[in-house]
Amino acid sequence: MIRRLFVLGGAAGATFAGYHHYNKPFTHDNRFDQHVELEGAFSPETFKAYKLKEITPLSHDTSIYTFALEDTKEDNLTVPYKMNVPVASCIVAKAQVADEVVVRPYTPINKSDDVGKMELLVKSYPTGKLSKHFSQLAVGDQIEFKGPFVKIDYKPNYKKEMAFIVGGTGITPAYQIIQRVLSQTNEDKTKLTLLYASRTPEDILLKKELDTLAKKYPQQFKIYYTVDSDPNQKADSSIQGRGFVNKEMIEKAGIPKPSEDVLVSVCGPMPFYDMLSGRKKSPQEQGELSGLLKQMGYDEKTVYKF
Ligand SMILES: Cc1cc2nc3c(=O)[nH]c(=O)nc-3n(C[C@H](O)[C@H](O)[C@H](O)COP(=O)(O)OP(=O)(O)OC[C@H]3O[C@@H](n4cnc5c(N)ncnc54)[C@H](O)[C@@H]3O)c2cc1C
Repeated sequence: MIRRLFVLGGAAGATFAGYHHYNKPFTHDNRFDQHVELEGAFSPETFKAYKLKEITPLSHDTSIYTFALEDTKEDNLTVPYKMNVPVASCIVAKAQVADEVVVRPYTPINKSDDVGKMELLVKSYPTGKLSKHFSQLAVGDQIEFKGPFVKIDYKPNYKKEMAFIVGGTGITPAYQIIQRVLSQTNEDKTKLTLLYASRTPEDILLKKELDTLAKKYPQQFKIYYTVDSDPNQKADSSIQGRGFVNKEMIEKAGIPKPSEDVLVSVCGPMPFYDMLSGRKKSPQEQGELSGLLKQMGYDEKTVYKF
C-alpha cells in the first residue's frame, strides 16, 4: 500500500511504501519532520468490511456501535484509516442476515477526521432486518460499508440559521451538523435550533452531549425537547413539550420563519415526514413539500428532508 508523505519545508511530496503500528501512529514524525496523510476508510463504489470494537448501550433499544477502521496485515502491523465522512453524509451498511443480503444507510456521529474509528448510533427494531442484526453483533464481528454519500454539502455559514425537526434516531444527521458548526464557532456563526421528539424521556438519545453543547453555546444553539409520554415520571424542566410536533411547538421552539437564509431539516420515522413535510420522492429526490411546514409557509428551498 502506498501512503503519501509530505516533507515539511522540503521541495516536494514523495511517496513511500510501508505501514506503521496503529498504537504508535506517526501522523507527524519528528524524526524526519514529515507528515503522513492517512487514506480514507470508505469507497462509494466498493464495500469494505470493518470489525466492531465496542458497543455502548444508550437506551433499551439503541446503542453506539464503534467500528475499528483499520486493516491488520500479515506481519501483524495495523494500518488505521481516516473516517472521511464529510458533513452531512451517510454510509451504507451491508450484512448477510439469514439467507438475505441486507443494505441500509446509517449516519456516523463522530468527526469526519477521526482516525481508526467510526461510531454508528443504531436503534434496533424487533422486526427490523439490519437493525436487529446490529443488536445481535458481538465485538470482533464484521459489517461491510461503502460511502460516503453526501446529503448536504455543508460549508461554514452555509445559511444564517439552520433548524432541525427530528424524531428518534433522526437526531444523527442533525448531530453531525451541530457538532461541526459548534466546533468552529470563531468562523461559523450559523444559529442552530433543534426540536427533538422522542417517545419517552428515556428515549432521548445523546441528550447529555446536546445539553452540554447548548449550555456552552447559548447564543448559537437552542434545544426544545418533546416526549409523547412520560410513564416513569422522568421528564425534568429541560423537556418542555408533550405530544407530537405541532404548529405551536414549532413556534415555541423558535424554529426560524421561512426565509432564504434559513434551512429547516426534517429527519425521523415515516409518519414524522407525513405529518411535517411529506416523504422524499426517492433517496436522491426531495419531492414536493407538503404537511405542516407547507401550511406554515415553508417551501422546497427552505426545507430539507434527510
Ligand atoms: C439517510 C439515512 C440515514 C439513516 N441513519 C440512521 C442512523 O444513524 N441510525 C439508525 O438507527 N437508523 C438510521 N437510518 C434508518 C436505517 O437505514 C434503517 O431504515 C433502520 O435501521 C431500519 O432498518 P431495518 O433493516 O432494521 O428495518 P426493515 O427490515 O427495513 O423494517 C422492518 C420493520 O422495522 C420497523 N422499522 C424500521 N424502521 C423503522 C422506523 N424508522 N420507525 C419505526 N419502525 C421502523 C418496522 O416495523 C418495519 O416494518 C437512516 C436512514 C436513512 C435513509
